[in-house]
Amino acid sequence: MHSPPKPDLQAAATKADHEGAFDSELSILRDVFRLLPTGVTVQDERGEFLLVNDAAAALLQMAASAPAPTQASDRRDTCLELLRCGRSAVLEESITAGAVKQVFLTAHRPIRVAERNLLVSSSADITEQKAFEDQLFRSAYYDELTGLPTRRVIEHRVNSLLQCESVQGHFALAFLDVDNFKHINDYYGHAIGDALLVEITKRLALDLRESDVLSRISGDEFLLLLNPIRSEAEVAEYIHFILQRLKAPFFIDGSEIFASTSIGVSLYPEHGKSYELLRQNADIAMYRVKNGSKGAAAFFDAGMEREALARMKIEQSLRLAILEKRFCCAFQTKVDIRTKDVKGIEALVRLRDDEGVIQAPGTFINLAVELGLIDELTHLVLAEIVKSIDLINETFGPDTTISINVAAKQAGNPEFMRPFAEALEATGFPGRFMIEVTEDAFVTKTLFQDEILPIFRKLGVGVSIDDFGIGYSSLSALADITADEIKIDRSFITDIHQRPRSQGILRAIESLSEALGMTVIAEGIETFEELAYLQAATKIRYAQGYYFSRPIFLEELAPAIPLASEARSSHASRPAQENRAGYSRGRGYRR
Ligand code: C2E
Ligand code: MG
Ligand code: MG
Repeated sequence: MHSPPKPDLQAAATKADHEGAFDSELSILRDVFRLLPTGVTVQDERGEFLLVNDAAAALLQMAASAPAPTQASDRRDTCLELLRCGRSAVLEESITAGAVKQVFLTAHRPIRVAERNLLVSSSADITEQKAFEDQLFRSAYYDELTGLPTRRVIEHRVNSLLQCESVQGHFALAFLDVDNFKHINDYYGHAIGDALLVEITKRLALDLRESDVLSRISGDEFLLLLNPIRSEAEVAEYIHFILQRLKAPFFIDGSEIFASTSIGVSLYPEHGKSYELLRQNADIAMYRVKNGSKGAAAFFDAGMEREALARMKIEQSLRLAILEKRFCCAFQTKVDIRTKDVKGIEALVRLRDDEGVIQAPGTFINLAVELGLIDELTHLVLAEIVKSIDLINETFGPDTTISINVAAKQAGNPEFMRPFAEALEATGFPGRFMIEVTEDAFVTKTLFQDEILPIFRKLGVGVSIDDFGIGYSSLSALADITADEIKIDRSFITDIHQRPRSQGILRAIESLSEALGMTVIAEGIETFEELAYLQAATKIRYAQGYYFSRPIFLEELAPAIPLASEARSSHASRPAQENRAGYSRGRGYRR
């Protein structure tokens, strides 16, 4: 008898074990696949889904429910196309459903499995990363405050215009700069300054064409590309229109603000064939307007280029002069008009140019302020005074005050004023000094009054308001300013004896200053008649002017015996003569 073959129980058990293990592995794999954080799908040749994990299901569902039904069908078409040509691709898909927008990065790859052509796709959600990139992109290419494109964008736009073969001319680049924006900012505060820039942007953008570009290139500077243009006259008319529109008052936060803008324009191809040159020439034209009447526009011309070159030359030589410390001081006395005593002296900086010629500050001070060189220059003036202090004492007496001019821009800047106060203290005689600032400094009144003045007060340094009457502030603004001295500008003093209106103003300033306890100094007395009027008709005690002394160089003083008669005939335009003409001993004010 044949016994039936014995089943190989062990083998069966092993196989069952294997199958069990395989099943459980498969089930793990299935779960892993289902729960993968990236969406994975497998499609057949007809685009039907064979496998879809949860993340992909959510994605597809979103695509299907999106208001634009084409999103789902577009995706399907893309997949079929990739399958047909057996090509891999990595594509960005953005799906918007309602308020939600999600961005996915999907890698598609055709594979051949079990003799079938399939497409496996995996999608990662890059929404957050994308938002971050967008933010980075926006901050590189768009200005946060106004939303306008940045300088990079306009540069790129102009460059692509220039590269474009079809450019047969003509476009214009306008450089716009808001006038006195710093004053507006200082006076009304930064929030209103910002709001003003936004309002200006709105007015500028009002009727631009699609092909024009308005860009904010820095603080209060805008660049406007007008493209295309037909003629210069057409541009001039449009720019004029913009200027008028910007001159209308702005109503911001309860304030009525008047602002104007200076505009310079360059034309392609007449004024340059590169972005850089066109921008620079528009800037040069704008600069010309700024230095003139402001609130106007100018087209670039070759004369401006020459001017700009000359300016650059002065700029270079000024930088060099500072580097080489080629500065010296002339001193002019402040005189008691009754006793002829010298009350104080004012240090007036002079520059020895490349050729050794002495230049008065009118030629370089504003530029030094603009170029940020003035702080260094003021420290040089102080160093010169300290160096000459013995000679100063010997010449004018040890108790005379010593005045130093400080530009309005410096006066409102604690970063200059604090170290400058320390430098004055370090001289060991800070109480001898006065700083002369023009009224403009008081536009930034609060900062100067609250933060800077107390430092100088503590040191015993006096404060003088220079050139009073020609700046921004009104008589009533005087009441808010705590100063020790007020210097009435020469324009009021010239021929004062013949000008009843100026006499009236002078009386008003005089009585106000008296009430506020400020010493009044009349600047620029040149004639005996002017002096006689002050003596007879006012209580003004002090004066400064060529009549008493021109600014003088100390080192040239000692050996020279100046002629008093020359003193009155020579003029300021020849500063080299300052010392000879200046020290008119005959007048007896020397102590
Ligand atoms: P300022 O401070 O008002 O100085 C008076 C100016 O008037 C001086 O011109 C002086 O030479 C001139 N002057 C004095 N008396 C008479 C006169 O009787 N008739 C005429 N026609 N002019 C007279 P300067 O030295 O050319 O200085 C011009 C301006 O440059 C100064 O005006 C001051 O604002 C500025 N400045 C001078 N030195 C410095 C400095 O070290 N730093 C700064 N920031 N500015 C300075
Ligand atoms: Mg002065
Ligand atoms: Mg003055």
